[in-house]
Amino acid sequence: MYLSTALKQTDRIMNKQTVRDIDVSGKKVLVRVDFNVPLDGKTGEISDDSRIHAILPTLDYLFERGAKIILCSHLGRPNGKVTESLRMGVIANRLSELLKMPVKTVKDCVGSETKKAAAKLSSSEVLLLENLRFYPEEEENNPEFARALANLADIYVNDAFGTAHREHASIVGVTNYLPSVAGLLIEKEIQHLSGIIEKPAYPFGGLFGGAKVSDKVDMLENIMANVDYLFIGGGMAATFLKAKSYQTGLSLIEEDSLGTAAMLMERARNNGSKLFLPLDVVVAAEPNEKALGETVDIENIPPDKMIVDIGLRTIEYFSKGLRGCKTIFWNGPMGIHEISRFATGTRAMAELLAETNAVTIIGGGSSAEVMTSMGLANKITFISTGGGASLSFLGGRKLPGVEALLDESD
Ligand code: ADP
Ligand code: MG
Repeated sequence: MYLSTALKQTDRIMNKQTVRDIDVSGKKVLVRVDFNVPLDGKTGEISDDSRIHAILPTLDYLFERGAKIILCSHLGRPNGKVTESLRMGVIANRLSELLKMPVKTVKDCVGSETKKAAAKLSSSEVLLLENLRFYPEEEENNPEFARALANLADIYVNDAFGTAHREHASIVGVTNYLPSVAGLLIEKEIQHLSGIIEKPAYPFGGLFGGAKVSDKVDMLENIMANVDYLFIGGGMAATFLKAKSYQTGLSLIEEDSLGTAAMLMERARNNGSKLFLPLDVVVAAEPNEKALGETVDIENIPPDKMIVDIGLRTIEYFSKGLRGCKTIFWNGPMGIHEISRFATGTRAMAELLAETNAVTIIGGGSSAEVMTSMGLANKITFISTGGGASLSFLGGRKLPGVEALLDESD
């Protein structure tokens, strides 16, 4: 029921051609993917390969039609310089394991060697180009660089949802030189995310946390119009509590966002949405492994401590509200979840979302990583692969990477 509604909406909202609308048989297809996966700081191994898994449906589609597949992506922030620790080799290995076939690589993403490697591809072979951001031209959306990428192929497919909010050469510039369509991941992301903006099953609950209000104002405002229940935890809760004149001690506060928090609370009242703020919180002297937590009511936050998690009473209170929802959107952890002692609230919310029968959508970033690391990702209706891109889309902004693709009517 939910999905069919969402599907119809996408037809209207996306209005873009997908890989299904174009003949890819035997063609050289340049696919921009988002393989910007988290790497373990010590071993350099991939710590979460969800973004690689997410691209497999598009690859299967292309394999079945004998396309010659040229994949390109960025990894990390090399800032326009060749950076050994950010080479794509580790990704090629994982992709090869998942596909159970060899994945070819080249040492560059443009240039004559790359062009030769692309030209030599046979049907259903895969070539993964080197990190696009080794060139500053990528983030500058340089037309020459975009043209050099385009020269490798006959067709361009954008399936890099996580980067679709960026105006980069491999996302936007390249579409000036090749017939350009969306991949199946972008299509699915837009279906699910537009589904919750347009017509969620009510009651609809929005559960928000994470560090900053300022990153998320547009999204909060946009979603606010729709939610029946609004739950605010994490660092964000401190700004809301302060705006309600509670003492918040050393908690992370965005002074600039106090007015925004007040405005959002006013909006919630006017919309008739019920606002759930913490009743109790875990506080600590410092945000580190050594600090001990103590639970206090929000009226009693000590001046020399900071909020690091929601308390048990709040977990109960939020859980009760969330259990009454038919759709739940979650973005942002309830506390400093990287420190296991302060991850209780975040883990409790993750478990609740895994158990509920409601439609559950997670807006990328840390909340998605938590779900995956707890082994609960398969219990969620949809987890977005794009943190910034999903926030941008849910904030009502157009994604340049989608806008640049061929219209349905072209
Ligand atoms: P997401 O990536 O899910 O969008 P954010 O990037 O906004 O979420 O926020 C994630 C960060 O928020 C985490 O690193 C977490 O430690 C931090 N955080 C959560 N609660 C608090 C808090 N009470 N004080 C400080 N930081 C917090
Ligand atoms: Mg984040």
